[in-house]
Amino acid sequence: MKSHPHPERPDRLRAIAASLATAGIFPGRCYPIPAREITQQELQMVHSLEHVQAVELTSRIFSSYFTPDTYANEHSACAARLAAGLCADLASAIFSGPAKNGFALVRPPGHHAGIKQAMGFCLHNNAAIAALAAQVAGAKKVLIVDWDVHHGNGTQEIFEQNKSVLYISLHRHEGGKFYPGTGAVNEIGTEAAEFAPDFTIISAGFDAARGDPLGCCDVTPAGYAQMTHMLYTICRGKLLVILEGGYNLRSISSSATAVIKVLLGESSEFELGNTVPSKAGLQTVLEVLKIQMHHWSSLESSFAKLQSQWEAYCSENKSEKFPVLTINFSVRVKWLMV
Ligand SMILES: [Zn+2]
Repeated sequence: MKSHPHPERPDRLRAIAASLATAGIFPGRCYPIPAREITQQELQMVHSLEHVQAVELTSRIFSSYFTPDTYANEHSACAARLAAGLCADLASAIFSGPAKNGFALVRPPGHHAGIKQAMGFCLHNNAAIAALAAQVAGAKKVLIVDWDVHHGNGTQEIFEQNKSVLYISLHRHEGGKFYPGTGAVNEIGTEAAEFAPDFTIISAGFDAARGDPLGCCDVTPAGYAQMTHMLYTICRGKLLVILEGGYNLRSISSSATAVIKVLLGESSEFELGNTVPSKAGLQTVLEVLKIQMHHWSSLESSFAKLQSQWEAYCSENKSEKFPVLTINFSVRVKWLMV
């Protein structure tokens, strides 16, 4: 319905492509790789046969609903196969060498799709399929950082028992009241150990961007560029960025363009000068560190330092704002965002 368009719609890709063209990035400075349909065998490395078949069935029906907000038309299954196929090929091209890094401009998104179910606009889990493709190409340990405003419950479920893939999600949670309700601070995984990845994937939703109607957060293009820059160095630049959510066309266009500029090696001024975290944000970081430091010894000193700064600040009883703090973790994990 044009008057009430579904937020996850083709205009999202058109808007980003137009922004890249205006910036002279594509066409011009990036090379396209052809999208191929992922095979059933590859899909079954991540999803159950029943799930793969359920998605395929939708190609015979004008419209199908997996959940009230996750629908498919007769072309959706093909689009999902192409999205997953492109992510897999881009992952192996980056790991094996022909591509330096890459941005997968794909839809439907993937991070809510679990082993057995489609949900949250997602049919197949593109990031999970890309991680396994990188491993087939030779990667031993893959890091997936998911900065979509929603918890990637599907990606977490798929890799919960897999110690060769580390999944880190940054998302709104609010005591489980924010969709999909999972991703609490104590969901720490079952195979935690110090980690040194050789391939990095970003599940890049831009629905935490300033102006997004679903996320209602305030991340700027400079913020996304900064996060990309921080992740860029972990695996000697072997970085695959996969589009997930993001529903304000202007916000996703400027954010994706800022991220791709970092991938192209542009050293930008991130303009984060006066940005200060809120008290609530800092409390959340401390809460996460308090739990995670029992599983990552590299975090112990960071927690102690932040905790003492926090206490000193609170005792002075100043304003709601906290001074800017940079947390760098540089032991074997190399870098961990909380
Ligand atoms: Zn999202």
